[in-house]
Amino acid sequence: VTTRTPLMAGNWKMNLDHLQAIAFTQKLAWALKDAKHDFDDVEVAIFPPYTDLRSVQTLVDADKLSLSYGAQDVSAHDSGAYTGEISGAFLSALACRYVILGHSERRTLHAETDEVVGSKVKAALKHGLVPVICVGETSEDLEKFGASAVPVAQLKAALEGVEGTPDLVVAYEPVWAIGSGQAATPEQAQTVAKALRDALEELLGESVAAATRILYGGSVKSDNIAGFMREPDVDGALIGGASLKVDEFSAIARFRQ
Ligand code: PEP
Repeated sequence: VTTRTPLMAGNWKMNLDHLQAIAFTQKLAWALKDAKHDFDDVEVAIFPPYTDLRSVQTLVDADKLSLSYGAQDVSAHDSGAYTGEISGAFLSALACRYVILGHSERRTLHAETDEVVGSKVKAALKHGLVPVICVGETSEDLEKFGASAVPVAQLKAALEGVEGTPDLVVAYEPVWAIGSGQAATPEQAQTVAKALRDALEELLGESVAAATRILYGGSVKSDNIAGFMREPDVDGALIGGASLKVDEFSAIARFRQ
């Protein structure tokens, strides 16, 4: 039996400048340290804006914080004439472990297609970053195709051409649940997480499917996290709004209590 370390991932979106990020990260580190014995076996990761990453790296290094971090997107390209883009090489140089890819806000507000997400997944892996691949259906998709079809198709497209035993995280985020206050039920999350794990097995084999953490995202809070974590195929959460409140986010990480 593979044991997957639960991952609680905080997506800050476009919030907190680098000075605010320093103050926030210090407070979060204290809250996590205070409760260390409670969640030694939970990985906590933060996803600040690009401009905060160097500051976060400095804090994590200086204080030896057991906090992972990553970026919210990456360029599909390595370097060159791509004004405004950030290379995976730059993120690796800042010791980022993760990068969020294909978030629904990127897909809808920045017209990211499955093909674009797929090329970013390859760029991330090439630079030693663990992609957190976001998939999820809209409410129209849910009505038309049921819950699993669109997320599974998005995952397959994102992994097109990926081979071997890549280190991946998949985040199931129903678009209708993001920022709406209306989370999916744990049963709904489990159904789709299982379908995604089956797709991983089909594409990359049993050991990758067993090792990959599948997160649920969409209006996760400290008072609903435990229900999701009881499901066998849900291995953590991607958290937006609640990740910007130290008490809420650290309470989510303490879901076992
Ligand atoms: C997200 O944007 O990834 C997310 C899950 O947001 P929220 O937790 O605010 O619904």
